Amino acid sequence: MTPPTPHTLISPTPHTRVRRADRATYERSTIHAILDEALVCHLGFVEIADARPVVIPMLHVRVGDNLYFHGSPAGRIFRLLGRSPLVCATVTIVDGLVLARSAFHHSANYRSVVVMGRTEPVADLAARRSVLDALTDKLVPGRRPGLRPMTDKEVRGTAVVRLPIEEASAKIRSGPPIDDEDDYRLPIWAGVIPVTQVFGVPVPDPRQLADIDPPGRADAIPPTRPGFVGS
Ligand SMILES: Cc1cc2nc3c(=O)[nH]c(=O)nc-3n(C[C@H](O)[C@H](O)[C@H](O)COP(=O)(O)OP(=O)(O)OC[C@H]3O[C@@H](n4cnc5c(N)ncnc54)[C@H](O)[C@@H]3O)c2cc1C
Repeated sequence: MTPPTPHTLISPTPHTRVRRADRATYERSTIHAILDEALVCHLGFVEIADARPVVIPMLHVRVGDNLYFHGSPAGRIFRLLGRSPLVCATVTIVDGLVLARSAFHHSANYRSVVVMGRTEPVADLAARRSVLDALTDKLVPGRRPGLRPMTDKEVRGTAVVRLPIEEASAKIRSGPPIDDEDDYRLPIWAGVIPVTQVFGVPVPDPRQLADIDPPGRADAIPPTRPGFVGS
């Protein structure tokens, strides 16, 4: 597993230079934090056969300066990703709806990241296992030690690809609406409606064996997670 690099900024490239620079950041720690919080990543690539762009939602996990994706080695996507195509991965966290005094100035508060580069297959089984463990730990922190361990067959049967976070940018919008100066005198409500991701109370599997305690909240859904709502 590659250790994180000490550089605090990821240099913008012609592909990742944000035109509206006031909302852009290339700070590595900010980019990492957004990637870590987002649950879904949209992975875009071009189908060579018919030169058609495709964007597919996937789970992802960041380890150090790499983003990882996993899936079935037999599927179309991982057969293609294993050939190291150019891809564009995006994650988005919507933090609020921004209500201005005119429809024109309505907006959204958000944190988003775009990462570009070539995927590389992770062939080494130990490295693959450690990525899959990291993915489980990201989705449900603390749960993995209580699970049946992953078998070698399961690891062999799962494709993993790495996308180095070398060409990457983040954009962040926060704060109140920005209205035309004259509009601030209008008797219209304006502000932000916050949007949060909510994790609910766990629903047991109908085939759950009797007398097994439900996962403790700190185990299954850590209260530190943004958007957590307890029972
Ligand atoms: C939140 C989320 C997380 C996911 N995480 C993973 C993951 O980590 N690994 C993984 O392998 N898969 C993941 N998937 C599923 C993934 O999006 C694809 O559906 C899957 O990888 C390939 O499906 P396929 O072989 O049926 O389709 P393909 O043969 O790859 O695609 C054929 C066509 O099916 C349609 N299609 C494919 N996927 C979707 C979709 N999700 N929604 C609507 N239309 C679709 C498109 O038109 C596409 O061109 C995730 C999906 C979601 C929504």
